[in-house]
Amino acid sequence: MKIIAIDGPSGSGKGTIAKEVAKRLGFTYIDTGAMYRCVALKSIRENIEETKEDEIVDLLKNMDIRLTNDGKVYMDDEDVSDMIREMNVTSKVSKISSIIKLREQMRLKQRDYANKDNIVMEGRDITTEVFPDADFKFYLDASLDERAKRRQLQNEIKGINSTYEEVRKSLEMRDYDDMHRPLGALTRTSDQVYIDSSNMKIEEVINKIIEIVGE
Ligand code: C5P
Repeated sequence: MKIIAIDGPSGSGKGTIAKEVAKRLGFTYIDTGAMYRCVALKSIRENIEETKEDEIVDLLKNMDIRLTNDGKVYMDDEDVSDMIREMNVTSKVSKISSIIKLREQMRLKQRDYANKDNIVMEGRDITTEVFPDADFKFYLDASLDERAKRRQLQNEIKGINSTYEEVRKSLEMRDYDDMHRPLGALTRTSDQVYIDSSNMKIEEVINKIIEIVGE
């Protein structure tokens, strides 16, 4: 099975780009951030603090997560696609995803996907920890201002209530958490293809990836 791994910070366009690359190649698209977001959502619903690590890991063990190729997310058969993008989930997810035992459990689930299909998987540690031997590895980046602009626009389209400043601050805090965790930290490595999309159109980034994969 072929694996295309894409890492990068929040708002770098990974989701949109990975989804479209998967569609064009006929691969399965896996959004690993959505998987962490499901655990964060359930922990909020069940009132479990992130310090209760074993209970958080149990949430994942007992959870069925289904990801569809058009980006829908089902948690135990409930469509949570919009709910997991809300601010309360977003502000909790980085803390939750710092739990080492949770990351280990998540990794097993993520690797399972590659047993069945060719995949495009995006996240923070896919090129480094989940699939260090992936066939293709990309690091997708963009400036903080550009990412905040994009995320705020997405929120407006989806009817999510937020301001540009809130979004920027939240991205900055998540960048810090995501880059400084003991396991699965977002890192640049010499074997990733680095793409800065700040001044690129989505279509250009997609074409660049397809071109590299096609070679
Ligand atoms: O990609 P997205 O912004 O939806 O991810 C939400 C959060 O999930 C990230 O801020 C990060 O803390 C966590 N995450 C992670 N490892 C991944 C994917 C996401 O820790 N592979």
